Amino acid sequence: MMSINFEKQSTLDETSNPESIKGRQCITDWFFTGHSMVVIGDFLASKEKQEYRKLTKEEEEIIVDKGTEAPFTGEYYAFWKRGTYACKRCGAALYRSESKFEADCGWPSFDDEIPGAVKRLPDADGVRTEIQCANCGAHLGHVFLGEGFTKKNVRHCVNSISMDFIPDKSEP
Ligand SMILES: [Zn+2]
Repeated sequence: MMSINFEKQSTLDETSNPESIKGRQCITDWFFTGHSMVVIGDFLASKEKQEYRKLTKEEEEIIVDKGTEAPFTGEYYAFWKRGTYACKRCGAALYRSESKFEADCGWPSFDDEIPGAVKRLPDADGVRTEIQCANCGAHLGHVFLGEGFTKKNVRHCVNSISMDFIPDKSEP
């Protein structure tokens, strides 16, 4: 199957061109080391290539140094438009506006994340659970369980400054 094709290919460009020999050697290496190597290689390359948005000093204090913005000061604590909240640093989609609710705590609150978008870690304070962007590790805030705000009984308490809001495209 694939190996037969490859054999045919290699006899077709049987030349003394060193470049073509080198190219064939690469294909042979790929063929015998297996596809997974190639996949991992591509994955690492794409990770490296990913460019993070340059942060302001204020953004860095929260997103990198895990600070907390003052309550009732952020852009999104009392903001109810339809759309998606994305990571300020890498742009990964984190939350949908449908999950946002009023917790009167002064920070944007969500009772659910976009599947796989948010990572939970024990906070350095030994009590709370920190939440980070699963893609780039940006600090988002903390998650609290069992407070009874919504049916899901979860509150992601997120710094506005850690997110960008992307409005849904309005209906034509
Ligand atoms: Zn991110």
